[in-house]
Amino acid sequence: MEKLNSTLGAVRSLRSSVRQCFEQLADGTNAELAEDSRTKFLLKFQENFNNMNAQLREVESLINGLQAPQTPYCLGQTTYLAQETAPERQALYSQLVNSYKWIDKVHDHSFLAFNNLNQNNLRRSYVYCSQKRVRIPFTSCNNFDPDHTDKLLSEINLPLTSYQVCRPFGSNVVVIVTISRVLKAAIVCKGVLIEWVTVKGFDETLDPDDLWAESRYEVFRKVQEHTHIAMLHFFSPTLPDLAIKSYMTWLHSYSKLFLEACKRCGKFVSNGLPPTWRDLRTLEPFHEECRNC
Ligand SMILES: [Zn+2]
Repeated sequence: MEKLNSTLGAVRSLRSSVRQCFEQLADGTNAELAEDSRTKFLLKFQENFNNMNAQLREVESLINGLQAPQTPYCLGQTTYLAQETAPERQALYSQLVNSYKWIDKVHDHSFLAFNNLNQNNLRRSYVYCSQKRVRIPFTSCNNFDPDHTDKLLSEINLPLTSYQVCRPFGSNVVVIVTISRVLKAAIVCKGVLIEWVTVKGFDETLDPDDLWAESRYEVFRKVQEHTHIAMLHFFSPTLPDLAIKSYMTWLHSYSKLFLEACKRCGKFVSNGLPPTWRDLRTLEPFHEECRNC
């Protein structure tokens, strides 16, 4: 505001100088006067003119130093609120303008946050799902070659295991693995990174469109928990092919789920369940409660 006042003052003095200068010029000088007086007149005019130029430059520099006023918010018909006569309502319009400004800032910040979060390539929860809703992923984020995934799966040859590849989520692969006559597992991949695993019994239906329905058998619900632990253990964005091969080998060790005794307690059944855990390195069977003993 101080800058604006000084600029207006400079404009006023410029106008005064211009008027003075041209008034003097309009008055002119008497041609009959001596040469000396005419020279004085010219010198006076020159001085006034120079002053005028100096003040004009000053005004220009002051104007350049001023900040551009903010664009007024046009809130349509609500601008009439500013003309409200009732004292308690006079502040409504300014509050409304502040709310709009605040919403604009929220919008800008959320846009920046959205862009930053999208750059996080290591995000695992790519296929986000809950019991209530299923969000289809952005296919544009998938940089993987689908043929590579197919080729990789064809290279994994494990006995008594079959693979069925489907793509219900666009380019993302869901691999239905059937291990012997024991269990079925649906492995949801983003490229070749495993995002989710669903395990069900051999006699249960495994619908690729509903991968979040749990098995009705406790043993397979427990195995599914363990497959998620292994999924995190074998996760390797730098060596994804090796990670998926290691994971498949580990998963294949469930082919003898009901045939092997626990390596710790030697029992086939404990708490009503067979050994549902497989060691991540040795693939040996353990009951859940025996694995950390
Ligand atoms: Zn045991």
